[in-house]
Amino acid sequence: MVSNFASQSVDPTITGYTVRDLRFPTSLDSIGSDPMNTSGENAHGYIVYHTDVPGLEGIGWSFSNGQGNEVLCAGIRCLAPRFVGRKLSSLTSDFAQTHRNFLGGQTRFMSPELASNAILNAVWDMWAKVEGKPLWKLIADFTPEQLVSVIDFRYITDELTPEQALAWLKEKEKTKQERLDLALKNQAVPGYNTSVGWLGLSDAEVEAGLKKAVDEGFKHFKLKVGLGLETDRKRLGMVRKVAGEDAVIMTDVNQLWDIDFAIEYMPKLADLKLWFIEEPTSPDDILGHARIRKALKPHGIGVATGEHVNNRVMFKQLLQAEAIDAVQLDALRLSGINEILSVCLLAAKFGVPVVPHSGGTGMPELCNHISHFDFVAISGKQSILEYTDHCHEYFTDPAAFSSGHFHAPTAPGYSCQITDEAFAKFECPQGSFWQSEKGQLMLNDPWRGCAAEQTSPMK
Ligand SMILES: [Mg+2]
Repeated sequence: MVSNFASQSVDPTITGYTVRDLRFPTSLDSIGSDPMNTSGENAHGYIVYHTDVPGLEGIGWSFSNGQGNEVLCAGIRCLAPRFVGRKLSSLTSDFAQTHRNFLGGQTRFMSPELASNAILNAVWDMWAKVEGKPLWKLIADFTPEQLVSVIDFRYITDELTPEQALAWLKEKEKTKQERLDLALKNQAVPGYNTSVGWLGLSDAEVEAGLKKAVDEGFKHFKLKVGLGLETDRKRLGMVRKVAGEDAVIMTDVNQLWDIDFAIEYMPKLADLKLWFIEEPTSPDDILGHARIRKALKPHGIGVATGEHVNNRVMFKQLLQAEAIDAVQLDALRLSGINEILSVCLLAAKFGVPVVPHSGGTGMPELCNHISHFDFVAISGKQSILEYTDHCHEYFTDPAAFSSGHFHAPTAPGYSCQITDEAFAKFECPQGSFWQSEKGQLMLNDPWRGCAAEQTSPMK
């Protein structure tokens, strides 16, 4: 339980930090399985910033898919000392400059974004706790000037200047209260279901999951494809049959194809009425995505990407190239809330919905904040957010969902905290699961996740 620091007007000093390596054996239930990732262990490089205020910590984490998480933790340990000894207000009073400085220096050569977001998330978590608000509300309550002030606009001013962003936010502020009311009634962020569509699930498991999801109020579903036309058609047809003609169906192939293959393949599924194909090819190929989108448009199929997009510049170019129908930004790949806010503003300018990538353990907890502040304060338009039903029990403030919608988070902070029980099992390598015989086999297989070479158990 977080104390009410807001009533105390505290300005904590960061006194030190702890970094921990957490790996969840998600592959054993086919969670996250897709054509490129047959067995992944969702993993966190987790940081706690300690402070001189009793009971107050800032918690954040970055994400990886298992092996190599020790590298992520090393990156966090490398960057974390930069904020030790600093008062929170000295970081947040000019947060845009803090963000810019943080990504600078010698570590800039290492592309530090992936590790930087754990640390920046921890600062945002601490700030929200000090203000006594869930993170989404902290941002939704910002004035337009405050919101613009936390963003580093370098590299995007050719498309969006601080002045333009300010004008946009002032316009949206006129109707903000209506959207805030909707958020407080837990009706702001509809979910879409990915759990029904992992590639490693049997047809019977997909069908059972679909029925459950329909009962839970879902109207949007996403399936992994790439199994071949016959199998893809069968599974997508199952969604249509169970969820009905009005259901919105999305597809995801996780970077499997070359561009021409995508252009040839997807029209053969067009009669199933699909909103988009996600990551049809290399996530770095901005012009390739544009070509695919243009070719699929006459067939009524869009293109989405973002979960492997590393920075605001790539999103700017994807939007400029008219390459995407949904901005699938990833909370653990961009460098913290500061950069996420700039991408939300760019998406709003282009009228493309933000549909955060939220399929990994803990992502729904974090992205729920992002979708809420995007709707209330930035885009002003309702979008959808990816929902998975796994691993929520590992969090002290799990994402809640009912009647087809995410609940607006209520606990102060950024919902990053993992329970002691989850640490006891899944901290790597000392957690009880990783010390078990199966855990050791998985941990010691240097090819884990590479289907052609893996020797450790799949289940
Ligand atoms: Mg995806």
